Amino acid sequence: MIYIKSKREIDLMKEACKLTALAHKEIEKAIRPGISTLELDKIAEKVIRENNGVPAQKGYPGPDKYTPNFPASICASINDEVIHGIPSNKVILKEGDIISIDLVAYKDGFNGDAARTYIVGKGSKEDQKLLEVTKQAFFEGIKFAKKGYRIGDISNAIGEYVKENGFSVVKEFQGHGIGRSMHEDPGIPNYGKPGKGPKLEPGMTLAIEPMVIAGKSSILMLDDGWTIVTEDGSNSAHYENTVLITEKEPEVLTLG
Ligand code: MG
Repeated sequence: MIYIKSKREIDLMKEACKLTALAHKEIEKAIRPGISTLELDKIAEKVIRENNGVPAQKGYPGPDKYTPNFPASICASINDEVIHGIPSNKVILKEGDIISIDLVAYKDGFNGDAARTYIVGKGSKEDQKLLEVTKQAFFEGIKFAKKGYRIGDISNAIGEYVKENGFSVVKEFQGHGIGRSMHEDPGIPNYGKPGKGPKLEPGMTLAIEPMVIAGKSSILMLDDGWTIVTEDGSNSAHYENTVLITEKEPEVLTLG
């Protein structure tokens, strides 16, 4: 079931999303060679809690009963890690790494979800292109995040743009509705046929999130039960925002 948010609920969503954007800005400022992903995690947790929010990923249940709950406030995924990397004091950023940060701030009953990928220092041309294509895929997708279109129109625009640029989308994970829960209906794949899926209506709030692999689409899960990596070892990028469907143009709520 897809929840259509009221004006009051949308106002609360906007506050959670602003806090998500603020935490991303603080992390972006801190990214440099020599910093650990655990330090980035602490920065995010501090800014979220100081602003009366809660880092929603911390304690999030694992995919099965054998996997411990997610232990950190952000997902920090380096190079060939696609999503759900666990911050650690042993993971130290180096010049030329790419790092994807996915974080969800929860405030006054609502969630804001966004992901960014950064190059540490000066990266390769290939990585620069990977990041640009991943980000632009989101903006290609939201050209269809409008009343009257369907979820499949967003999915198709993202998937086709990524393919045209010689990269692959992840098929096993997808975007999602968001609101009181971090994950709500509908699912939003990063590939698919136009004209399919639920119709978009004003008041829907959607986390749209291209996950792009420089090489082949196949992924693996590491033994920690969380971290998803590319099977061929190629790099991967992630770009996500929480988007409000309106009567006219979509509003991107997590750009700050
Ligand atoms: Mg996310």
